[in-house]
Amino acid sequence: MGHHVTSYSDLPAPALRLDLDQDALQSNWRALDRMSGGARAGAAVKADAYGLGVHKVVPVLQAAGCDDFFVAHWSEVRAVLEVASPGSLSVLHGPLTPPDAAYAQATDVKPVINSLEQARRWIDAGGGRCDLMVDTGMNRLGVTLDQLGEPMLAQLEIDVLLSHLVAAEEDTPLNVIQCERWNDARTRVRHKRASLANSGGIALGEAYHGDLTRPGIALYGGVPRPEMAPMLRQVVRPQTAILQVRHVEAGETIGYNATFTAPAAMRVGTIALGYADGYLRCWSGKGRFCAAGTILPVLGRVSMDLTVVDLTHAPDVAEGDWITADYALPQAAVTTGLSQYELLTLLGRRFGR
Ligand SMILES: *Cc1c(COP(=O)(O)O)cnc(C)c1O
Repeated sequence: MGHHVTSYSDLPAPALRLDLDQDALQSNWRALDRMSGGARAGAAVKADAYGLGVHKVVPVLQAAGCDDFFVAHWSEVRAVLEVASPGSLSVLHGPLTPPDAAYAQATDVKPVINSLEQARRWIDAGGGRCDLMVDTGMNRLGVTLDQLGEPMLAQLEIDVLLSHLVAAEEDTPLNVIQCERWNDARTRVRHKRASLANSGGIALGEAYHGDLTRPGIALYGGVPRPEMAPMLRQVVRPQTAILQVRHVEAGETIGYNATFTAPAAMRVGTIALGYADGYLRCWSGKGRFCAAGTILPVLGRVSMDLTVVDLTHAPDVAEGDWITADYALPQAAVTTGLSQYELLTLLGRRFGR
């Protein structure tokens, strides 16, 4: 008798999963909170917590003591509210439409006000607690320093006065200039708390800390500045099952466009991972996996749903076994030319989280 599938939601386990090290995540938040000195660390959990899954990430951060969460879109609010209280959540893009403002009113989630138009929209919807973004050099979102004297902004009930650093991972005079502008803004508009630093900004020192810091990438194992490396741990490890083991003879090629030719007889494994999962073709011939301490190099091109790895030196690894990608973010960024942010947010929906 075969297994009887009673419902289409009775899915078999996926052959891809993201291993999330909850201890490392918690330890990274604590380290960043400590490095933030007198300020508290919040957390950027936009883009589904940089692709890791807010349902997993937010409860772990809350347990560590995190009370301030940031998403970008209104569409991201619902998933966070399933695990966090509305008063702890801010939406960075702010109210673009009256329905956005009405939704914020109904949920008690804080909009980040980015322009006089958004301020007007928020006040028209009833106003109340919000954050305010002031632009100090990014020229992306935020009210300008010149606009801070506008009477409309005086009507806002501002919790966090925010600005965002252009290049905190670099030592550039822009950091100092932005810090001065942010300090100037703090004297010109009434607010409860001030916040400037993202992950990299936390390492720039006390002057950048204010009352609240907003780390994202470093929570998830990214290393924005080399001096932060000793305090941060890897959080995410993509894992995949081996679908098939094959033997190839010397001179045979592997994968699309025959970019790899076996120099000798080899044992190889086909894995259930490809560029549709965010394991992009830049890993072709460069990626590495690991099984019980043995390195398994990627052979030839990464294709949409499949990749081939060398099992010649791992004779015990068989069909159905799980292997783990080399995915330490700073090194992976150097290998691929992708940013640490891209490496996380690319990881696709076919990964079990
Ligand atoms: C994404 C984001 C952050 C977090 O930045 P990291 O570089 O990932 O630490 C902080 N603040 C704002 C406004 C953001 O958009």
